[in-house]
Amino acid sequence: MSKPTIAIHLPDGSVREVPSGTTPLEIANSISPRLAAASVVARLTPLAGGTAGAASGEESAEAAMYAAQDASATRLVDLSTRLVEDTRLELVTEKDPEALKVVRHSAAHVMASAVLELFPETKLGHGPATDSGFFYDFYREKPFTPEDLAEIQERMIEIVERDEKFVHEFEPREKALEEFERDGDFMKTHFVTRFTEPGSAVSFYRNGKFVDFCRGPHVPSTGRVKAFKVLSLAGAYWLGDEKNPQLQRIYGTAFFSQKDLDAHFARLEEAARRDHRVLGKQLDLFSIQDLAGAGLIFWHPRGAMIRKIMEDWMRDECLRRGYQLVYTPHVARVNLWQTSGHEGFYAGNMFTPMELDDAMYRMKPMNCPFHILIYKNSPKSYRDLPARYAELGNVYRYERSGTMHGLLRVRGFTQDDAHIFCMPSQIESEVSACIDFAEAVLKTFGFTEFKVELSTWDPNDRAHYAGSDENWDLAIRSLDNVLKAKGIPYKTIPGEAAFYGPKIDVKLVDVLGRLWQLSTVQFDFNLPARFDLEYVGEDGERHQPVMVHRALFGSVERFFGVLIEHYAGAFPLWLAPVQIGLVPISERHTAYAQKVEAALKDAGFRVETDARNEKMNAKIRDFANQKTPYILVFGDKEAAADAVSVRTRGKGDQGSMPLADFIAKAKSLVESQSTEL
Ligand SMILES: [Zn+2]
Ligand SMILES: [Zn+2]
Repeated sequence: MSKPTIAIHLPDGSVREVPSGTTPLEIANSISPRLAAASVVARLTPLAGGTAGAASGEESAEAAMYAAQDASATRLVDLSTRLVEDTRLELVTEKDPEALKVVRHSAAHVMASAVLELFPETKLGHGPATDSGFFYDFYREKPFTPEDLAEIQERMIEIVERDEKFVHEFEPREKALEEFERDGDFMKTHFVTRFTEPGSAVSFYRNGKFVDFCRGPHVPSTGRVKAFKVLSLAGAYWLGDEKNPQLQRIYGTAFFSQKDLDAHFARLEEAARRDHRVLGKQLDLFSIQDLAGAGLIFWHPRGAMIRKIMEDWMRDECLRRGYQLVYTPHVARVNLWQTSGHEGFYAGNMFTPMELDDAMYRMKPMNCPFHILIYKNSPKSYRDLPARYAELGNVYRYERSGTMHGLLRVRGFTQDDAHIFCMPSQIESEVSACIDFAEAVLKTFGFTEFKVELSTWDPNDRAHYAGSDENWDLAIRSLDNVLKAKGIPYKTIPGEAAFYGPKIDVKLVDVLGRLWQLSTVQFDFNLPARFDLEYVGEDGERHQPVMVHRALFGSVERFFGVLIEHYAGAFPLWLAPVQIGLVPISERHTAYAQKVEAALKDAGFRVETDARNEKMNAKIRDFANQKTPYILVFGDKEAAADAVSVRTRGKGDQGSMPLADFIAKAKSLVESQSTEL
């Protein structure tokens, strides 16, 4: 605390000289009271030795709540923080995504306040913000009931109405520990011991009578937690160890406004309506069978039909784009996995080995080593490159029980996997072709929006990466060039590359705005070296090829899960397992039904006739429940005119039209892979 005045650098480039000890709130007020009211916290970058942008991304969730912040790095602080050095200052308003996290974490304090007021015997764990809200962990012998949760919500409303200030206080660490131990606050004792230094002052926040060990920041007062909801209760063992006491974790969520909160619940409802596990059952697409095991998918006829269309499309596209199709086994000797390195760094993700008479075997978690063996099976020259091997390969990966989720997280799945072996000079054109292919996949299957990330290495951490500097530079430059040349906006993420090479990830955006990681294009400098891959170059010398792994659906299962949710089960005509449902009005029209069915099948359509002795409306309803794109109804009038009465999904009754006209129209929709219907 030296200088009488300090320099505050604002985002517009202006600099203000203010007395040392001025708060961000005072500065906001001096700019405009409206800005002050809109600000949630402030973002500081101290000018002396400041490392802009080095926000605490690497910290564990717990360290991020308790460990003292690096005072030289960019960080968020309370609006009431006294500024004592020259700094860049940005007032963080509701427009900043970080602000919502602060509101949510503050809501966790409000929840803990409410719990202690209602149930004073409760011991506190911790209460971080999450991507969709917040939670707080509590220890209390009696389980909370749904009525308790409702009461907690009510009490939180009161605490928010009280508009208690969040006051930042410090206490000597030893004193704080003594108090926590005395009160039996075993979790707080743990956090203080683990995340603070002996001899330091420990940071607390007080609102009303409630005090919590926390480094902040928070909103200025509880009144700024405007829209929130206590959601649910779950059990969790303290520190994840089942020998420890069981905690009760109460989840909640908070938003800036009631409107945002309502929109959030509407989105959740919509997501639940689209849940692929529910639709998978309702539309009889797939199942997971207890008797067979978790994470293993059974494709029922309707789901299998969609898969066939996806796979046919993918194989045809691969051939059109110069790939060669291969098939490889599901298991291999452990020796292979030792050579590839999987046995070392990936063993935890593999099924345990099985012993046969001659050796130990393992299910394959990846197809790469198999494609490499095909490459290696005969000498290669530069004329053979690029060699592009594609396979819809089944792989098996160990996922912990309890982590499986429908089609999205499974133990056995099919990758649309390809490996491209090429010369360094071919990298750019190969990557470019992969990106075009990925775009074609997304567009064809109805996704118009996607986000691209380029993961590169951290050149300061050289020891962690396989391959030469030259190759890394070349690969990163090529990926960069390709994305730039295509005008694709992307985010570069340094240090996110795998140890074996840089990669491009394509994340699609579904109809609900959710991001899904599916396509990936990855370089590999490691496996070609491990397997001693070679080609004879134009110079007659032996060289090592570069290898690219790429998967576009990613996993066929996962992609299918995303498709189900994206379309809410109403697949476009070209993908629908049953495209046309036929409804003869009475048994009298069975002969005409057979004629229509034959004509449609001849034209290549997937058709189902409902010949049951049921009411017409019941038959129509059943097809509609199956989300059948077209339902054709016919009686005497239609039969006499070689016509059908057409019901289009989402549009209702379209009236009667000649069968031939209907066929022509539907055919053009299928051929163009239209997503209109
Ligand atoms: Zn806090
Ligand atoms: Zn691979």
